[in-house]
Amino acid sequence: MNNYDVIVIGGGVVGGMILRELTRYELKVLMVEKNCDVAMGQSKANSGIVHAGFDAETGTNKAKFNVLGANMMQEVCEELGVNYKNNGSLVVAFSKEDIKTLKVLLKRGKKNGVKNLKIIAKKELKALEPNISDDALGALYAKSACIVCPYSLTIASIGNAMDNGADLLVDFDTVKVERDGEYTKLTASDGREVLGKIIINSAGAGAESIANLFGDYSFKTGLRRGEYMLLDRESGNLVNHTLFFTPSAKGKGVLVTQTVDGNILLGPTSVEDGNPIPETTDEGFAFIKEKASQMCKSVPYYNVITSFAGNRAFCDRHDFIIEESKAYKGLINLAGIESPGLTSAPAIAKYVVNEMVLKIKYAYVNHYFIRKRYSIDNLFQKPFKELTIEEKNFVIKKDKNYGKIICRCEGITEGEIRNAIRQNPPARTVDGVKLRTRAGMGRCQGGFCQSRIVEILAEENGVSVLEITKNGKGSEILVEEGK
Ligand SMILES: Cc1cc2nc3c(=O)[nH]c(=O)nc-3n(C[C@H](O)[C@H](O)[C@H](O)COP(=O)(O)OP(=O)(O)OC[C@H]3O[C@@H](n4cnc5c(N)ncnc54)[C@H](O)[C@@H]3O)c2cc1C
Repeated sequence: MNNYDVIVIGGGVVGGMILRELTRYELKVLMVEKNCDVAMGQSKANSGIVHAGFDAETGTNKAKFNVLGANMMQEVCEELGVNYKNNGSLVVAFSKEDIKTLKVLLKRGKKNGVKNLKIIAKKELKALEPNISDDALGALYAKSACIVCPYSLTIASIGNAMDNGADLLVDFDTVKVERDGEYTKLTASDGREVLGKIIINSAGAGAESIANLFGDYSFKTGLRRGEYMLLDRESGNLVNHTLFFTPSAKGKGVLVTQTVDGNILLGPTSVEDGNPIPETTDEGFAFIKEKASQMCKSVPYYNVITSFAGNRAFCDRHDFIIEESKAYKGLINLAGIESPGLTSAPAIAKYVVNEMVLKIKYAYVNHYFIRKRYSIDNLFQKPFKELTIEEKNFVIKKDKNYGKIICRCEGITEGEIRNAIRQNPPARTVDGVKLRTRAGMGRCQGGFCQSRIVEILAEENGVSVLEITKNGKGSEILVEEGK
């Protein structure tokens, strides 16, 4: 059995950033994830907004880590080769009551340390957003807000940690824990066992169950579903900034935003029905359409190419829980990391490692830590399709697979797909390839390229195409080989 200094439970963006931060030190570290791949929880299905930091009440963990994380995000994305855009956000007012709320948010934002925040009048708002509804009266303009691809960030942070020596076990559903001398033994549902001195519980929606396994019942979590509609890139210029309504007790409400890949995202809803599998609904779509049409003129719904949903994992303390368990020494709980958890992740990771882990177990700095995530794919720090002809020729000369387009909608090459299967953490499923390369994310949603991706996955892994799944056991794509 393998012994580790630290085991991180949960392959989301919080666990990923922590794993990466841990590899800056001479520590033996492992991540265990219950799904067949990382980035399958909240970190896959969210809005992808790097929030400026005016929403959370001053003095809370949410406020503190939001502002710190937002300030770190650009550098982290550049190091990891993750797409990032500073598009700015606008909280739009439609009534006198809303204007009052903008003033509260402005004051709170300044207290939280947000820079470049101001209220703008209707004329300036119109100039920034020509498609905004005529009923809009003004907005809170946060120039520092950004957009990022949440699953790319998660995958890249875990990949970089693995390049720096971290181990990853997928399909490891932690179901049992036992003290074993100075170690804790974690057992998975399939009987696999691992030992760790410090256990980090960053299991998102599973954080309460994990804490309970350690005899810690100090918090309760719940789920709030958010549904989205995604528009084709053709409609990408509908808005320039991220547009919010004024927030309510249920959250920031439906937003209209560009994604970092140039699509338009509408949503999320906010429904607490206890369903652990987040699904989209007709009522959800109707609500999103009603709100988006209130925000913008002539939203091109005919350009919707897909829809999805994610579950926010909130907790009964209404703030991020980031603390060592009082019930079990060596267990660090990260729970209730709902929005702005994506934004906060780099700052949470620094805090957890420097102020918590290293205080329990001192470790030397790893002088061999590699900050950048290199591969032929991100040699130029941008997708292959955005390279100049000279750059493309350079890459194709190194690997001819970059000269073959597999996903025509998104312009993704065979080289990029093979790289996603070979690079840490390796893509093992069709969805894994999709999240790492965008192959299958375009207008045809994989209709043309999926069969070729299945073949490449089978070839790279030396298995039959019948073994290739969409997203893990039970989602096999083919039942019989063609003659
Ligand atoms: C609809 C929605 C919109 C959001 N929008 C934004 C936004 O715009 N900006 C922002 O900053 N934040 C946003 N958030 C919040 C952000 O997505 C989360 O804060 C963040 O993704 C949390 O990451 P995590 O690693 O804690 O959890 P997760 O990503 O959920 O990861 C937890 C992992 O633990 C694994 N796990 C669970 N149980 C076990 C077990 N027993 N053994 C092993 N592994 C286990 C899960 O499979 C999962 O992969 C949004 C969230 C949602 C749902």
